[in-house]
Amino acid sequence: MINPQVARSLADAAPRSFWLDAPDAPAPLPALAGHVTADLAIVGGGFTGLWTALLARERDPSLDVVLLEARTVGWAASGRNGGFCSASLTHGLGNGLQRFPADMPQLERFGADNLREIGETVERYGIDCDFSPTGELALATAPWQLDGLAEEAAAARAFGHDVEVLDAAGARRELDSPLLLGGLRYAGGNALVDPGRLAWGLRRACLAAGVRIYEGTPVRSLVPAGAGAGAGAGAGAGAGLSLATPYGSVRAGRVALGTGAFRPLLRRIGNYVIPVWDYVLVTEPLTAAQLASLGWQDRRGASDLGNQFHYFRLTRDDRILWGGYDAVYYNGGRIHEEQGQRPRTFAKLASHFFDTFPQLADGGVSFSHAWGGVIDTCSRFCPFFGTGYGGRLAYAAGYTGLGVGATRFAAQVLLDLLEKSDSERTRLTLVRSKPIPFPPEPLRSAVVQLTRSSLARADRNEGRRDAWLRLLDRLGLGFDS
Ligand SMILES: Cc1cc2nc3c(=O)[nH]c(=O)nc-3n(C[C@H](O)[C@H](O)[C@H](O)COP(=O)(O)OP(=O)(O)OC[C@H]3O[C@@H](n4cnc5c(N)ncnc54)[C@H](O)[C@@H]3O)c2cc1C
Repeated sequence: MINPQVARSLADAAPRSFWLDAPDAPAPLPALAGHVTADLAIVGGGFTGLWTALLARERDPSLDVVLLEARTVGWAASGRNGGFCSASLTHGLGNGLQRFPADMPQLERFGADNLREIGETVERYGIDCDFSPTGELALATAPWQLDGLAEEAAAARAFGHDVEVLDAAGARRELDSPLLLGGLRYAGGNALVDPGRLAWGLRRACLAAGVRIYEGTPVRSLVPAGAGAGAGAGAGAGAGLSLATPYGSVRAGRVALGTGAFRPLLRRIGNYVIPVWDYVLVTEPLTAAQLASLGWQDRRGASDLGNQFHYFRLTRDDRILWGGYDAVYYNGGRIHEEQGQRPRTFAKLASHFFDTFPQLADGGVSFSHAWGGVIDTCSRFCPFFGTGYGGRLAYAAGYTGLGVGATRFAAQVLLDLLEKSDSERTRLTLVRSKPIPFPPEPLRSAVVQLTRSSLARADRNEGRRDAWLRLLDRLGLGFDS
């Protein structure tokens, strides 16, 4: 039975991404009709594809680039996320240190440069996406989450981060919630963006740079040019690759795949990625008094430190975006649009929201938007890369909930791989190694659901990890949104 206040707060929420629900959303571009050729064909119009297209033209303005998007640019994860644009390329310093200890100095430097260059790109192309380098708060809402904060801060400082450990009073001075027990305040390393407008701005920059973008154009198959369907990814591809779409085809010398959590065109990618749904609410704009009641310092993006965590931030027009907690894998891993609406999860999120901010409960704050989006989750929580067809194809996927910034770095890697350049980037273990694959179905569903329920139990149990999670930890495996 849903609490009446929670039900009221959600009753009028529009079932779509707040970021994409704008009267000035760009009109769709025509689908591909007929045959075209290109030096580089990019599949996927999310951040991975958009950055790859734009950076390809910036590197070589003579390169003929085509981008093929099944729906419209930014409609998937890139236009549905929390808009936390992190410098981290490794889903946090701790995860990076555990997996790539020797490379962390380089990865941290690449990450910081990447975030700065995203800001510069936004500026250079006049992209009005509210890019705000706010830093971020990591907030403890249960005593066990306080353990290790000092160590985490020390590790971050060793890499040059400006971070402060907060006690309960300090945390509540940052953001007033009775649930806060402490946390970490990072002064840098993260910007907040309007991801929809970032995607649309990159689309505009790509078009202005001469990239040909076809929307409403799903790529159905990919084969070596001149070969019949069925030629494998190991086959040579001297004449390039051929991509088939419903009403046309592209023959391209090189192909980059940025297809996120969707069914991959190269089957092996599917061993490493599972589609995990993450859900988000956005409130109506707060009144000045409601905003003041939060005492939100410097509009910093925030998240809590549970295994099942919430992330929250203000929008440009003073709404609160509140997402996370349930990370849902639908058994079998098929993606269906209707999975984006999950009233059970929305009610849980809304109830947690009012527990966190009781001062907003009395004022009758309600939610204007409620949506879900699919995260390309891999077992190491950060992107992986690969090539196929004799190096004519490269792909990046597996950002696991932290791809708003990392996609730009990934685009640089994709271009390096396609140019076959031996760069500092392509020598990174992050680039050269793969995550541990997920087992095939139906074992995959069983393993993921067991892990989800163990993580929820750990949160209820002062963070104590059961035997299953301890085994995964030992194997360097896990499950995260
Ligand atoms: C709810 C939610 C919250 C998130 N919050 C954050 C956050 O705050 N910070 C952060 O850093 N990250 C966050 N993320 C993750 C981030 O959004 C992604 O990592 C990032 O957007 C991935 O971009 P992408 O281009 O790789 O994938 P996508 O944005 O998913 O784009 C892939 C595109 O490929 C297209 N495509 C797929 N197959 C084909 C085909 N065969 N032919 C043509 N087109 C195809 C799809 O239509 C889609 O547009 C969140 C994700 C979600 C869902």
